[in-house]
Amino acid sequence: SIPVIAIDGPTASGKGTVAHRVADKLGFHYLDSGALYRLTALSALRRGTDLADEHALAKLAEHLPCSFTGGNVILSHENVSDAIRAELVGNTASKIAALPSVRHALVGLQLGFRKAPGLVADGRDMGTVIFPHAPLKVFLTASVAARAERRYKQLIDKGIPANMEDLLMDLQARDDRDTHRAIAPLVPAEGAHVLDTSHMNADQAVDEVLKWYAAAMKS
Ligand code: C5P
Repeated sequence: SIPVIAIDGPTASGKGTVAHRVADKLGFHYLDSGALYRLTALSALRRGTDLADEHALAKLAEHLPCSFTGGNVILSHENVSDAIRAELVGNTASKIAALPSVRHALVGLQLGFRKAPGLVADGRDMGTVIFPHAPLKVFLTASVAARAERRYKQLIDKGIPANMEDLLMDLQARDDRDTHRAIAPLVPAEGAHVLDTSHMNADQAVDEVLKWYAAAMKS
């Protein structure tokens, strides 16, 4: 069967970068599941959908006119790669991600990314809910301080003003919501390898994941 590497973890843990590079090294497809929640949030914000209207939000999620081409995220022919990274969109995504109907609406779309020769799937519930039989599950973490520092650097590099205290508060609020929600809470999947990247760079984390994958394929 087609192998899946599930990489889950909190916001700014570096899983996007690591998952992407692992996919490149192995020639696998890549699923950024967070982008699907962000796309749903962006659509809702633009249409003025009531964020308490679970049914309407699920409908949006189920019929997302999105595609992923050449590393870009496309929504109805518009390149929204940058737009979905806005803080407001991320925060809205984390709110609507707590709604069961929205999560259910996105399951089929996510499963469809599993194609030969393999998939690296990045998110919060890849190993626990979407791909529970993945031969390799990784839970990537880093201290709140290390993650805030990374987010800070990313923003400054892009020329976006950032404030460390606000970033720390945002990260903690997002972690709190993702960890304590009733559905698909962020926890390491059964059998997941936990990797704390607080004192590691992306290359070291990638090497570790590739080693685990080679070992998983042998057994
Ligand atoms: O990973 P990213 O920051 O892009 O995800 C945005 C939000 O989407 C997260 O804060 C989380 O609440 C939600 N999410 C989720 N399940 C996933 C991926 C993302 O609930 N598999």
